[in-house]
Amino acid sequence: MWFAFQGAQLLIMREEGRASIPSTRHISDLGLEPIRSQYLGLYEGNHCFSCEIAADVAAPEGLVWTGLRGLFGLVDDYLFALAGRAVQIVDWDRTHLYCGRCGTPTVVKAGERARQCPKCRQVHYPRIAPAVMALVRNGKQLLLARSPHFPPGMHSALAGFVEAGESLEQCLVREVREEVGVEVANLRYFSSQPWPFPHSLMIAFNCDYAGGEITPEPSEIEAAAWFDLDNLPVLPNKISIARRLIDATIAQIRSEKAVTP
Ligand SMILES: [Zn+2]
Repeated sequence: MWFAFQGAQLLIMREEGRASIPSTRHISDLGLEPIRSQYLGLYEGNHCFSCEIAADVAAPEGLVWTGLRGLFGLVDDYLFALAGRAVQIVDWDRTHLYCGRCGTPTVVKAGERARQCPKCRQVHYPRIAPAVMALVRNGKQLLLARSPHFPPGMHSALAGFVEAGESLEQCLVREVREEVGVEVANLRYFSSQPWPFPHSLMIAFNCDYAGGEITPEPSEIEAAAWFDLDNLPVLPNKISIARRLIDATIAQIRSEKAVTP
């Protein structure tokens, strides 16, 4: 199977309501010459490779270039995750051709997913940037906010990248304070999701409101408010952990309501 990328666009075969990844002995069998290729491993007994195709190359007949988000729901979750892994490996390979320490061209390190500098021996691994997501709850209300780049009307949980030297919990408290001026308590881990746009790992938490007035930080947050469950805004797509976090919390609140006499 060949995960061929042109920038962030993946080469797929579209069938009715489904998509598949091209399977061939080598991507050159489809008339494509990759700039670089990487071995990914085995999937259901098939060897998998990723590769990078030059920007101006047209898709072979019967195939199309498509963004990863557009692939969601057209392939099974495992294959979707594999495509997310592939795009990150391609991106890492492309951005670590030279040693960041001494500038020497790097070589693939045997037995590890790494590139190594033959001169100074520095090893370069794929980068992963952890980010924390926080859904703040106050009784039966949820704190949802929107960034200026969100689609119209969409609100979501708060999120931000972990800084060097910071724990996930410290990051969460800082991000919520910075973005909306609210204090939180009772942090509860929910789940995590690799987010290959381009190389994040999102770690999601629930937490409880512990004080402060909502005061959006204008450079990051366009609007933020407490929402009742019967008056929710447009929510993120089901592809995202944000939506799973919000849906699970709504279900939790509804179940509590059901047992209240
Ligand atoms: Zn070096």
